[in-house]
Amino acid sequence: MKSIKNQGQAHCPHDCEPFEVDYWSIVSADQDPDLKSAVLGGELNLVQCPECGTFFHHDGDLIYFDAPAELLVFVFSQKDREKEPELLKRMQHDYGIIKNTLLKQLHMDYPPVSVFGLDALKSILQEEEINSFESEAVAASAAAQGFGVIRLKPSYAREHHFPYYVPAPAGGKEANSYAVTASKVLQGGLKSKLLRNFVDHMSQEGADLPLTL
Ligand SMILES: [Zn+2]
Repeated sequence: MKSIKNQGQAHCPHDCEPFEVDYWSIVSADQDPDLKSAVLGGELNLVQCPECGTFFHHDGDLIYFDAPAELLVFVFSQKDREKEPELLKRMQHDYGIIKNTLLKQLHMDYPPVSVFGLDALKSILQEEEINSFESEAVAASAAAQGFGVIRLKPSYAREHHFPYYVPAPAGGKEANSYAVTASKVLQGGLKSKLLRNFVDHMSQEGADLPLTL
């Protein structure tokens, strides 16, 4: 899926005359990492009112997609917040279409996320950065202690608040072996809430094996 710009009418917060703008309506983050940076920096779809000079975010609908991260976010306009049930229905419909056309070759098997406004999207990406950083620390600690590293399916890891990487179980392939090995890495001095949560989950009786890539 390619990043796409759309045209729309921007409305200045100071009630000036509306004006035409080009704004991003589809952001394909893995293809255009500079657009992802723009979301994080607060510059995406930032426009300036020609009448009073005020800068503001054009509040148009946007789809943010990062294929390797398995992250699909529908960003709705803040002003449509009261129409949420209707929008969610439309999102499921649009998702069905996108999944079977534009993204067919990706075999998407994870649900979309929805938020209102670019600030909410920015918060998701910030959390994503923090979790990726923590996951890399988990991988480094595991490797330093002589364990292999396994990559979890990103959407699964995100949903369960697990790190994106976990230590490969040393001996045995059941869920509890994952818990035991991850515990050893934590005992080695690593501080990771995500890995701690993974251990708690995998040590439960009857826990399913993690979904890995
Ligand atoms: Zn203005």
